[in-house]
Amino acid sequence: TIAYLNGEFLPLADAKIPVLDRGFIFGDGIYEVIPVYHGKLFQAQEHLQRLENSLEKINLVNPYARATWLELINTLIAHNQGGSQIIYVQVTRGVAKRQHHFPENTTPTVLMTSSPFTEPNKVTEGYHVITRPDIRWLNCDIKSIALLGNVLLRQEAIANQAKETILIRDGYLTEGAATNVFVVLQGIVFTPPKNNLILPGITRDVLVKVLHDANIPCQETAVSEAQLRTADEIWLTSTSLEVAPITRLDNQIVGTGKVGAVWSTAWDLLQRYKQQILQA
Ligand code: PLP
Repeated sequence: TIAYLNGEFLPLADAKIPVLDRGFIFGDGIYEVIPVYHGKLFQAQEHLQRLENSLEKINLVNPYARATWLELINTLIAHNQGGSQIIYVQVTRGVAKRQHHFPENTTPTVLMTSSPFTEPNKVTEGYHVITRPDIRWLNCDIKSIALLGNVLLRQEAIANQAKETILIRDGYLTEGAATNVFVVLQGIVFTPPKNNLILPGITRDVLVKVLHDANIPCQETAVSEAQLRTADEIWLTSTSLEVAPITRLDNQIVGTGKVGAVWSTAWDLLQRYKQQILQA
């Protein structure tokens, strides 16, 4: 596959960065993950807005204007034969002598890669998740490349034959290790509000919008651990999962133990929205 590194398109295997890059040394950088369906970017403006927000929150000057980002990303998509792809974008504070404080006059490192994207199918069996305390920092709204907490938490899921680890902070649900979480209680859909404790997921926002437009009650309010444990349905959202049903939580059955009726509607609404956007 073809990658983009600091102004150049080149084979991924040839893309190299110096060991003193602050991304490597400190995890001093941010990233984005943007889906491409059959050659077309989905929610590109929203992803680029979040990229800009992440850069601003770490005081890193955006290396490119929005239009330049779009042009570079579309060129990368074309270089990789245009099908369904996941575009990974990373910006770090660049290469400098190792010292914690920001270096002066350092050029950010910009890396973009493409990997094949197999769109998820509408499943008939739900996934298993576990819960753990949210051990991460208090700036989870920044899409930081420093993901050690998320990595350790996701690994615990895998070690327990689960799809994801759902995180609890101070008695309330935050999100998954790499997903946002929705619950259904008595016909009402709940998802935690956007604040510093969660990543503002693009899929989360799309789902909130399509539910709202379909007059399905959906509230962006705090969800207690007790509510999570008594939910009729639990869903995960992310760019690669879209919206996925959960039927076991810490080895306890969720709701009926089957994929939920509200989830099925939400899945259909999301697919319809995707088709509308991608055809426009
Ligand atoms: N929360 C975290 C911690 C994530 O890393 C991600 C994305 O991978 C998400 C939520 C979902 O965000 P999106 O829907 O934009 O992919």
